[in-house]
Amino acid sequence: MGTLSCVAIKTRATTRVAPTVEIMVEICHVNQIFIAIDKYAKMKVDAKLIAWMREIRRHIHQNPELSFQEFDTARYVTKKLRELEIPFRKGVARTGILAWIGDEKPDSPCVGLRADMDALPILEKTGLPFSSSRDGVMHACGHDGHVAMLLGAAALLKKCHIPGRVVFLFQPAEESEGGAREMVADGALEGVDRIFSGHIDRHFEVGEIAVQPGLICAFTDEFRITIRGQGGHAAKPHETTDSIVVASLLVMSIQTLVSREVNPAFPSVITVGKISGGSAPNVIAEEAVLLGTIRTTHSDVREKVIVGLKRMVMAMEDLYNAETSMELVPGYPPVINDQAATELARRAALAVVGPDGVKGLPYPSLGGEDFSFYLQDIPGCMVRFGARRPDLVSAAAHSPRFDFDERALPVGAEYLAQVALEAMKA
Ligand SMILES: [Zn+2]
Ligand SMILES: [Zn+2]
Repeated sequence: MGTLSCVAIKTRATTRVAPTVEIMVEICHVNQIFIAIDKYAKMKVDAKLIAWMREIRRHIHQNPELSFQEFDTARYVTKKLRELEIPFRKGVARTGILAWIGDEKPDSPCVGLRADMDALPILEKTGLPFSSSRDGVMHACGHDGHVAMLLGAAALLKKCHIPGRVVFLFQPAEESEGGAREMVADGALEGVDRIFSGHIDRHFEVGEIAVQPGLICAFTDEFRITIRGQGGHAAKPHETTDSIVVASLLVMSIQTLVSREVNPAFPSVITVGKISGGSAPNVIAEEAVLLGTIRTTHSDVREKVIVGLKRMVMAMEDLYNAETSMELVPGYPPVINDQAATELARRAALAVVGPDGVKGLPYPSLGGEDFSFYLQDIPGCMVRFGARRPDLVSAAAHSPRFDFDERALPVGAEYLAQVALEAMKA
């Protein structure tokens, strides 16, 4: 990185963490911000940049917006980009933003860094002083932190002479509608060679980054099954076909799909998340509707589960004299981290958190992540940023008490800046 004009700070992990490893980290200086690595090899940005990122995180947390409604969030992000004098295009994928720095020569390397911006339809119960000001909408997945991290990375990289171009993708609608797909359709990946991102994760400690090649998030598919019977009097079941009984039996049958038909070496799950039907205690319901999701980690398993589910639904017709229909809504493809990009991510993580801080993922998450849409076009890697708050171990992501340790913000910013530099070197 001899071409960097930014301040290069040589830092040394302590013998406790890395007895033989000396980490050379090239970090930019931002408004005289000093960066170093402490004894746990965690990157330390000085108080000014930390405060800047924390303010961003808290502002966004307090003003959450649902998928494709991130108008205020986008306005706020563009304000911060203006502060950094970074050019941008807004209105990408409706409420997304593309920003960029570096040269625009066609043969220069170009790296994409992505953050998602949307919140969830949850009534916040954290009691934080910067709790949501919008009832029923909450940042319960850490996307407020992701935006702050990406702006922090932009601040760091802006001060560098970078040997290429970095594109910052502030993406809407990760939680529900696949905003990434629209970002791609809107040209967000034009000229981008590789893309990187990270997600806050309370399963890891602050100062840890989990880097794993291959599949890290599942296929997600949703289904809607309708069962139609013959309604009637609750006391005269012999004159009816009870759709609620049929629905109940179907739910129990579905449990054997994963446990008896899928190779147990491939993690998979089917969950019926909602059942509706019936109108009164003394009325046999004519119709019942089941809504659920299928999560799989292998395309063959996905196919097998879908075929098996259809078979079981159809079987209800003959078994119980009911009519059925099933609608399958394909969700996000799986996130599959590219091997070479993962190696770059690992190098960047090492530079930021040292060898003890770099973790793997022992098993894939069966959650969905629309980062996968970018990876269908170009190689890239998504990592997890440790952000556990020990006092909130039971407050899972997507729960009303979710919060994360804000000391993860500078780690994320440093990683994103570093991985961009690593990718441009490659
Ligand atoms: Zn989420
Ligand atoms: Zn998320």
